[in-house]
Amino acid sequence: MKQRRDSSSLIPTVFFASLVAGAVFIYSSSMFERNAPEVKLSNIGYWNLKDPLHVSISDQSGLLEYTATLNVDGQDYTIANEKLMQPQKSVSLDINPPKQLYRLKSDKAKLTVTARDASKWGFFQGNKVNQEINFVIDNKKPVVTDLTNSYSIEKGGSALVIFKANDEHIKSVKIKTNFGKDFYAQPFEKKGYYIALIAWPIDQPNFRATIEAEDMAGNKAEDYVRLYLVERKYKISNLEVKDEFLDGKIAELSSEFQETAGVSDKIERFRLINETVRAKNEALIHKITSKIDQKKMVTNFSIQPMYPLVNGAPVASYADHRIYSYNGKIVSQAYHMGLDLASTHMGEIKVQNPGRVVFSQSNGLYGNNPIIDHGLGLYTLYGHCSSVDVKEGDEVKSGQVIAKTGLTGYAMGDHLHFGVLVQGIEVRPEEWMDTHWMKINVEDVIKDGKTIIERQ
Ligand SMILES: [Zn+2]
Repeated sequence: MKQRRDSSSLIPTVFFASLVAGAVFIYSSSMFERNAPEVKLSNIGYWNLKDPLHVSISDQSGLLEYTATLNVDGQDYTIANEKLMQPQKSVSLDINPPKQLYRLKSDKAKLTVTARDASKWGFFQGNKVNQEINFVIDNKKPVVTDLTNSYSIEKGGSALVIFKANDEHIKSVKIKTNFGKDFYAQPFEKKGYYIALIAWPIDQPNFRATIEAEDMAGNKAEDYVRLYLVERKYKISNLEVKDEFLDGKIAELSSEFQETAGVSDKIERFRLINETVRAKNEALIHKITSKIDQKKMVTNFSIQPMYPLVNGAPVASYADHRIYSYNGKIVSQAYHMGLDLASTHMGEIKVQNPGRVVFSQSNGLYGNNPIIDHGLGLYTLYGHCSSVDVKEGDEVKSGQVIAKTGLTGYAMGDHLHFGVLVQGIEVRPEEWMDTHWMKINVEDVIKDGKTIIERQ
């Protein structure tokens, strides 16, 4: 049975429903939004009086009026005082310093921003904000001076730099290069002094390094690192790829890598291993060896010449550019980024410098591949090991056996692939194995730096 409704009984329900709808409308409508305008300052905490202060004020229902007042040394400077005809969603102000600010007694400043929006909330008064932002005025550039450095840098090699970078509000200190790589420094001996190792990558035709310090207010200063550049030609090797190698080592490696899964063409497999897998393995090495503790003060950095394998004669050199041909046609190429040292079967690998193990696993072409962090962004790497006697996090001592040579990864005979890296860049291991080079480029520079700093 259907019941007929009396339409008059619906009136209170409709009335109540419209009240609720009205309330919901007010509550959710942008006309009645309840959020105060938002004030944002681009330069947080500091102002260099050079770049304008960017202030942005924004609001959902639109701004109707706003003011901005700068207070320095007890003096108010009105920056803006606007009433808008039409509500505006956002306003941005570029504040240039009033001239008087260049002769300041105090470095403290305050910016007060007030704003009111067009919301009907608050009995049509809108939402208001009154925000005070305190900051420090700092228009002094940091002082940057190169104190001492290695006399020269060789293409593919390393150099040491000791410099001064002083500022009350220092933010960052680094050494910029002409090829986009930034080298980071560590505090050295005393506050305001720094030490950094830098490197000239083999694929860069030119080298230029500039120390740059920046403070919290964005003031920057630079000093050019005076280095005598030594060009160095590296070997180019033309190698013929044999079927025996493609069907042997390459076929064996192919089964290990996902990059070569399902690829049956043996040249294609070789190319994938020699280029794609190598690039991936090296990217991991670069990532691991890029780290430097920029907070740690260096007081006693000393490094001994390296000879990881006693009587290990060099069998392949660093930065050897290997061009591979098959049946007279070039099929692939690669750079050999370490020094290969011949070994007796499972020869002991010893470190001559203390450090921390940062990697002890297998890494594709590099096989079992321990990596040691010696501080100052200097790392050593040992490829193709048959066994590794240390694990990640271990501290190693000078003279400690860390692994045994082998032929894991892309190795045809038992040998050690020895690599040295400076902040993620492979450098000539031969320099770090050369007593004379180390004396004049590292030891003497540190001694000289300490003397200069003591006198200051
Ligand atoms: Zn090698």
